[in-house]
Amino acid sequence: MAPRGILLYSGGLDSLLAGRLLMEQGVEVEGIMFVLPFAAPDYRPEESPQAAYARDNGIPLRFFRLGREYMEMVRNPPHGYGKRSNPCIDCKIYFIRKAGELMESEGADFVATGEVVGQRPMSQTKHMMRHIETQSGLKGRLLRPLSARLLPPTIPEREGLVDRERLMGISGRGRFAQMDLARRMGIVEYASPAGGCLFTDVQIARRVRDLLERVPDFDMTDVYLLSLGRHLRVREDLKLIVGRNETENAELEKYGSGADALLVPLFKGPVVFACGGLGDDDIRFIASVAARYGRPSGSGDPLTLFRRGVRQGEVPAGVPAEDGAIRGLMI
Ligand code: SF4
Repeated sequence: MAPRGILLYSGGLDSLLAGRLLMEQGVEVEGIMFVLPFAAPDYRPEESPQAAYARDNGIPLRFFRLGREYMEMVRNPPHGYGKRSNPCIDCKIYFIRKAGELMESEGADFVATGEVVGQRPMSQTKHMMRHIETQSGLKGRLLRPLSARLLPPTIPEREGLVDRERLMGISGRGRFAQMDLARRMGIVEYASPAGGCLFTDVQIARRVRDLLERVPDFDMTDVYLLSLGRHLRVREDLKLIVGRNETENAELEKYGSGADALLVPLFKGPVVFACGGLGDDDIRFIASVAARYGRPSGSGDPLTLFRRGVRQGEVPAGVPAEDGAIRGLMI
């Protein structure tokens, strides 16, 4: 029976190459691709270009949507954060641990990644790669085909399931070796290297912290909505999301049944999605925010108010909120 490996597939060139190197020597490879929490609830990863690149290279994929458990890790990552709210080391450990669980349940022999020694300053030093391997509970069964010859032999190499001599010894941040390998393998289509996920974005990082600190019962739609619109923390228990364009307005309306109040202007202007305890003054304030970012013809122009998806009636736009009042609330 052919040896079997679970490939942590990021969608990038390195993990494609790692998979192909193994397949070239007869390993059966199955990819696992993680869907980050900022993906829309109706996002279909199997239709993504990354999934197509895997298919083109003969790598079957399964998808793992990161949920509440992952967010609890983000709340309190044992290895801390990178520059923003990106818990890269614990994120890697989480991914590899999940791939390890799949390895166990599928009866596969090892987990492989596209990691390259020295490619990233924090998580891909030799020391940290060893640490991640230990912490993920995969000691000896985590293979990095692109750098394998620079690392101690893993169990599948020692057992002869994988021929170490046919793996690579790539290190560093350069991309030439990978490009060469891609050319040799005839891989022409792949995603360009990403700079980091949304957790590394300064504004999103603030919103993530705000959510984790103030909304104990958040769900994954709340996490998705962090990537849309302007966010205003009005009070400890009241947050607004203000659409910035038609696409965002449509998304806020789509998930509007989860809002304690959703205001949809009948003039050109933003949809406002509000979560928290809301009195009449709050509704008036929200309407004035919509008026500030919209183009009502006068203070009597209406917005439709929905509470938890149920239409309540109309409220007037009122006088546009002042920029100074809004600026201090932005997160
Ligand atoms: S950049 Fe984002 S996805 Fe990548 S390791 Fe860091 S937290 Fe995880």
